[in-house]
Amino acid sequence: MSTMLRLSNTLSGKTEDFRPFDGKLVGMYSCGPTVYDYGHIGNFRTFVFVDLLRRFLRQSGYKLNHVMNITDVDDKIIRNAAQHKLSVRDYAIKYEDAFLEDMKTLNLQQPEHLVRATDYIQQMAQFIAQLEKRGFAYRTEDGSYYFRIAKFPEYGKLSKKDFAGMEAGARVDVDEYEKDDARDFALWKSPKPGEAFWETEIGPGRPGWHIECSVMAREFLGDSFDIHLGGEDLIFPHHENEIAQSESLTGKAMAHFWVHSRFLLVEGEKMSKSLGNFYTLRDLLLMGHKASSIRYLLASVPYTRQLNFTFDGLKQAAQSVDRLRNFKLRLQTGKFPQGSNPKFAQLAEQTRLKMRAGLEDDMNTSVALAAVFDMVREVNASADAGEIKQDDVAPLLAVLDSFDEIFDVIRDGDNEKTRAAMEWARSVGKISPEQAAALEHSLSDEQVEALIAERNQAKRSRDFSKSDEIRNQLSDAGIVLEDTKDGVRWKRK
Ligand SMILES: [Zn+2]
Repeated sequence: MSTMLRLSNTLSGKTEDFRPFDGKLVGMYSCGPTVYDYGHIGNFRTFVFVDLLRRFLRQSGYKLNHVMNITDVDDKIIRNAAQHKLSVRDYAIKYEDAFLEDMKTLNLQQPEHLVRATDYIQQMAQFIAQLEKRGFAYRTEDGSYYFRIAKFPEYGKLSKKDFAGMEAGARVDVDEYEKDDARDFALWKSPKPGEAFWETEIGPGRPGWHIECSVMAREFLGDSFDIHLGGEDLIFPHHENEIAQSESLTGKAMAHFWVHSRFLLVEGEKMSKSLGNFYTLRDLLLMGHKASSIRYLLASVPYTRQLNFTFDGLKQAAQSVDRLRNFKLRLQTGKFPQGSNPKFAQLAEQTRLKMRAGLEDDMNTSVALAAVFDMVREVNASADAGEIKQDDVAPLLAVLDSFDEIFDVIRDGDNEKTRAAMEWARSVGKISPEQAAALEHSLSDEQVEALIAERNQAKRSRDFSKSDEIRNQLSDAGIVLEDTKDGVRWKRK
């Protein structure tokens, strides 16, 4: 294993060398979505970071056992389902499906285990029963269960909070609460009238949010595993509570590394519905932004820094992606003289090493991106000067491939993703008349290729009105044709 990856560990407060317990297999758990609404870009900042780390670990030769939960029962889901007069399941599945589609839109790899909380309710009840037997949990009169934090003196070790003065026995029963609200938290909630519940060995009810992750992590990764991931908003109370539940039961460290991505701001401000700067991934696609630009922007700032998401930044991200795609196209389609110049194989190797060194240094994506763009600049200048030879192309393309194994923005699927978002918007009545018209005119890559072939045929048979008609149809769909000596090239405006 050649890697010397270092990661910021919230638990130790230090940046540490990462080595999996097992040497080869990395066990990791990342907190997944609570499927009560469409995912917003703050959520996706964390999911993109987790994806980059996954891909880098794999590129480094590790095997992964990555678990991510889907929280399909919690306070918000129950509230929203009731408002929409739907069962919890019927309500949650819609947003679970949407989340899985959004993952594809952003080229997020599927974890080895993507697990639903409601499929592990009995295991959660068993876990709580064991906590109760050891005195870490107690039952209240209404049949709910709480974790007794006074029994776990290490409480606060992740969030570095001192809870010495807190009142013993005070309780909090909501899933999410304020930072100073350190009280006994709900493990199991007895059903209120009309609420969804499950029959279990500890009685009827439903799990609290925190116990879900402790149980599902243990099911798939055992008592201790390598990395636990999430956004920094989960440090307290969610991850602090996961540690309390799991470690009081097993007596072992739940995870070696606790790694958190920092907040995302929008135009310098905290994203909130009341400020009007709250964006789901789908909002951005419908505004005409490409999936690749969004992924690029979310990946471009290292997870250890706050990310200020701006529309200017999104525009620049689109330009950066275009530069990479054009560069690759130039290497693939350019006519270069025979031979090679050893300088370019060296440049390719140096770039590969710099990208790797950046990512090994606490997943510093901005260093990796700078390395690849330095290479693009230098090779473009050399190509303009006629210095690139045929045999220089392969090593340069190999570096781009290795870059895209992690960043995955060069591969182009943007048009299909935008069309899918617009189809979705039409199906839920969220489409504007302009978007509906654009969707009407839009063409898939295959349709474009077929029309170009048809136009070539028309030109060969000197049917110029037909060939002009096709050109106009393509132009209405935002397709630009360039007639070159090697044939027709096309791109999207
Ligand atoms: Zn969690």
